[in-house]
Amino acid sequence: MRFIKKEGHEPIALRDYKRQIQEGDVEPQDTFDDLSADARKALQQQLAREQGYLCCYCMREIKTRMGDEGKEIPLMRIEHFKPQSIFNGQITRADLVKFTCDEEQKVREDLRVDYYNLFCACPENKANKDRHCDVKKDKYELCIIPNLSDNKHKRFFEQLRYTDKGKIIIPENCKKDFEDKLNLNCESLVDKRAFVWKAISKELTRAAGHSNWNQGGLKLERKVQALLEKYKNPRKNGKYYQFRDFILYRLRKRFPDIRIEK
Ligand SMILES: [Zn+2]
Repeated sequence: MRFIKKEGHEPIALRDYKRQIQEGDVEPQDTFDDLSADARKALQQQLAREQGYLCCYCMREIKTRMGDEGKEIPLMRIEHFKPQSIFNGQITRADLVKFTCDEEQKVREDLRVDYYNLFCACPENKANKDRHCDVKKDKYELCIIPNLSDNKHKRFFEQLRYTDKGKIIIPENCKKDFEDKLNLNCESLVDKRAFVWKAISKELTRAAGHSNWNQGGLKLERKVQALLEKYKNPRKNGKYYQFRDFILYRLRKRFPDIRIEK
């Protein structure tokens, strides 16, 4: 999970759709589901682009397929950070109260087509025990994790830590959000992160000439710099390497004195 810098303006198709709602051409109760195919596509493309094609929660790569007009279509889910079943401007249904953070509150604002409430998440994972991200979260509201695009809370995401075995180290007060609602330390995700770090460890050992990285010398230093560079910046196609922030955290933790050369 990482801070997401939004492009700052919603796709034109979404803006036009919201105008239709205001003008009464769309029944307000339908809002998100009635979004046209074109508006939905434009929204998906923008959300994926803003995130460098990484899932907003697990940072797995968002794969794409080639669309008819030669544009890449991301294979993703549109995630409502605040669930659309609850944040809909209406009195919260009694059966949904248990999913909220504040059970006393009666009505919540309508964020169903609010651009700052929408993110790109990885597509459904079939295996039940390993459901994660928004498929797992479903109707739940996250109570501690702040909105991923809120500048004020950038620090929250920068402080996330990871073990070299691929686990996110989660402070006690965040466990419900990270583990119960999003399942970000499920076996399959931990394994995938560990696998990527293992491959990088092998590259480092090769560069150092032996497994003692402390005596790696200049060749190792260059390798670390190259890896920092590789993971920090998106590629020419705007895509980051998956698990970007986990890898950067491990490299910086292991080699605190090595910086990217200017
Ligand atoms: Zn995900």
